[in-house]
Amino acid sequence: MAKLITVFGATGAQGGGVANTLLEDQDFKVRAVTRNASSDKAKALQAKGAEVVTASLDDPSTLGPALQGAHGVYVVTNYWEHMDLEREIRQGKSIADAAKAAGVLHVVFSGLENVQKIAGFPCPHFDAKGLIEEYMTSIELPVTFVRFSFYYENYISLLKPQKQEDGTYVLGVPMEGAAMDIVSAGDMGPAVRAIFKSWAQWIRKAVGFSGDKLTIQQTADILSKHLAPKVFKASDMTADAFAQLGFPGADDLGNMFKFYRLHNPDRSVELTRQLHPAAKSFDKWVAENKEALLNALD
Ligand code: NAP
Repeated sequence: MAKLITVFGATGAQGGGVANTLLEDQDFKVRAVTRNASSDKAKALQAKGAEVVTASLDDPSTLGPALQGAHGVYVVTNYWEHMDLEREIRQGKSIADAAKAAGVLHVVFSGLENVQKIAGFPCPHFDAKGLIEEYMTSIELPVTFVRFSFYYENYISLLKPQKQEDGTYVLGVPMEGAAMDIVSAGDMGPAVRAIFKSWAQWIRKAVGFSGDKLTIQQTADILSKHLAPKVFKASDMTADAFAQLGFPGADDLGNMFKFYRLHNPDRSVELTRQLHPAAKSFDKWVAENKEALLNALD
């Protein structure tokens, strides 16, 4: 019998990849959670066969019904919508408690490291997820943690290349020459599906998703190759200088890059490809997304 998986974030980048992949597989049924069932994305999921339900991680009373009868649940919390560490922790604890109470057999949580604890400096959007991971472990939830690397898609949105006076573009990712793991957010659906398929062996394990590990100059060279005659270069900014830029979240992101450089957290291209052999390299993703990348540029 097909297993029912409740997917939080199904209308978003990560959860959308998961929901759409599970919908193509007869072994699964999908219950897609949203706060707005009349959005285009929610309607598209319904058209593909998902049961769309309304619930919110901010309202614990809605979580039990969203989990009723589910074998598994995919959970992503969105720090960037509110930038409130305590609120994200509350959301994570609420869904953990609800999954435990509902007897869900397998929770896949999109977590990250507790940077404050590991590195001694704050990185709230990581720290909140690290604290949620710790809570889920403490209540003995049957959980697998998936930790996404920096998305390829950030080069279209969050950190799109900045045009310089000489017409070249700079990638403002302050890695100070170190390599960084990166991945396509929407491309990890098949990897999560593989984890749900052999769920028992993944309980209490963590997987760091990575599609590639590149220096920022290597990243820039791939963009230059596909988007010629445009030329891309790595920024020479330090992570500490980035943290001082002053826009909301700059300090959080600056410390994230510093954590990546100094602590090289466990992300694995090899394990990601074992779970999802067709996981896209950055080169392949750029080749497939030239138009979106070009449209994002000034
Ligand atoms: P996204 O595309 O913006 O989607 C956010 C999803 O979360 C939507 O489906 C939204 O659903 C759902 N959501 C938000 N608040 C909710 C609530 N209170 N209750 C139920 N659902 C809620 O975001 P994403 O990229 O998939 O995930 C964001 C998370 O990824 C962030 O916490 C970030 O730290 C993490 N992350 C990002 C990167 C990166 O490089 N950008 C890397 C690793 C991890 P509705 O709006 O339909 O309700």
